[in-house]
Amino acid sequence: PSLDVATFISSRAHHGSAAPAFIDAATGRQLTFPELFRSVESLSAALSSMGIRKGDVVLLLSPNSIFFPIICLSVLSLGAIITTTNPLNTTREIAKQAADSRPVLAFTTQQLAPKLAELGLPVVLIDSEELAPGSAAGQMRIAGTLEKMMRTATGAKRVRDRIDQNDMATLLYSSGTTGASKGVVSSHRNLIAMVQTVISRFNLDHTDSHRFICTVPMFHIYGLAAFATGILAAGSTVIVLSKFDLHEMLSSIEKYRATYLPLVPPILIALVNGASQIRSKYDLSSLQSVLSGGAPLSKEVTEGFLEKYPRVTILQGYGLTESTGMGASTDTLEESRRYGTAGMLSPSMEAKVVDPETGAALGVNQTGELWLKGPTIMKGYFGNVEATASTLNSEGWLRTGDLCYIDEDGFIFVVDRLKELIKYKGYQVPPAELESLLLTHPDIADAAVIPFPDKEVGQYPMAYVVRKGGSGLTDRAVMDFVTKQVAPYKRIRRVAFVDSIPKNPSGKILRKDLIQLATSKL
Ligand code: ATP
Repeated sequence: PSLDVATFISSRAHHGSAAPAFIDAATGRQLTFPELFRSVESLSAALSSMGIRKGDVVLLLSPNSIFFPIICLSVLSLGAIITTTNPLNTTREIAKQAADSRPVLAFTTQQLAPKLAELGLPVVLIDSEELAPGSAAGQMRIAGTLEKMMRTATGAKRVRDRIDQNDMATLLYSSGTTGASKGVVSSHRNLIAMVQTVISRFNLDHTDSHRFICTVPMFHIYGLAAFATGILAAGSTVIVLSKFDLHEMLSSIEKYRATYLPLVPPILIALVNGASQIRSKYDLSSLQSVLSGGAPLSKEVTEGFLEKYPRVTILQGYGLTESTGMGASTDTLEESRRYGTAGMLSPSMEAKVVDPETGAALGVNQTGELWLKGPTIMKGYFGNVEATASTLNSEGWLRTGDLCYIDEDGFIFVVDRLKELIKYKGYQVPPAELESLLLTHPDIADAAVIPFPDKEVGQYPMAYVVRKGGSGLTDRAVMDFVTKQVAPYKRIRRVAFVDSIPKNPSGKILRKDLIQLATSKL
């Protein structure tokens, strides 16, 4: 039987749960399970009466909110396609994405609405009744407000298009950290397989009621997976933070007695560096598990975290937007103690490590490109046959672009992203390895390594370093520290100090920005 992901989620949610499904951390507003699914019913009826049909693309531009899941599930239940965008994107970036995805309707907030003004799309306002008079977006076609649509549509009839599991469900854009941003198409089947994997890998179907904090961005597959699995996890509540803010996150853990915290590595670095202050200021005793995903977590940060927060389990989740978020994970602390691992392959997936030059399959502990195959692998890139063909082969293998090895017990280790390797005199230097090493220095709070262009050697590694407060660390000391511990071709040959390392919402270092900074002075 063909089950769409919205019906799948609604049929398996714990409708009778005493705990609310969602809580807005800032306002305390709660959404119970009956309210959630009643809202989805009425919003999908309202969308249907507006003419939204299977295959239509609906754009959602919003910070995290308790309405995000309602909108996603309503659109998906009609067989329409949800596409999201980062609220920090500029008007120009959003226009470019919209020209690719061609939405017929958008949902956004009062504050973000001006970013959509030039698209000429009908817009539904999520958080207010009307646009402020005289605002830049005053000329926009306001199709309604979410609250009103949810109120008035009760009783409206929905047109029920037949949805096949293979139909397109989400269109999420990769952030473009390693190339042009592309629209990743996931099907209903991909999404169902993803939530099933997350629930079973992290034992969320029969554990005590969890209280998740959702501060990871819902427009990204990570946040989408977090709220979708939060709905399905037995008796659980998702506490929604509109965006990441360290103080708000920590005080919400304390206030709501949160137990489960999906995060990205930069936040873990902040938790480790500020541990003594944090632990004296906030009561984090409810916290049981922290999940790290989106970017590599170094051995040093894992060790530091376990030392500073000994009662909290740290877990890993590895995946790509192209694998609908899931590829591998650790599901116990014991597994996470294999420092540096991204985890075991998800059940129902297949993996192989391939020589990126020859395409030959490699053996245990040999490093090459990781290829993945299985039910969460995307359908392809939207409207981009060429990019799809070079990423997904005819047998269904996805080239992850990650340089990895798999050890004798089946644990995957990500060495680096292939496109980010620094090429020094023909040698390949993985920046992630040097970053991880720099983080072991007692005076270094954070670090990023980039390729610096050079006529003679091609590229050499340059480090951007954030000093720990008050330390008088010099560039020479940084270079000497690395030189003592690495092969000569991996040496850092230039250092610059900065206040912070630019990172994207999924925790990745924005190397492009740093390369531009470094080379703009040439
Ligand atoms: P683009 O592909 O355009 O650069 P992006 O980097 O934002 O965009 P994502 O789908 O968010 O795209 O990133 C997927 C990549 O994130 C993986 O290929 C891998 O390099 C990295 N990654 C995710 N989780 C982990 C993890 N647990 N450990 C190591 N790396 C991870």
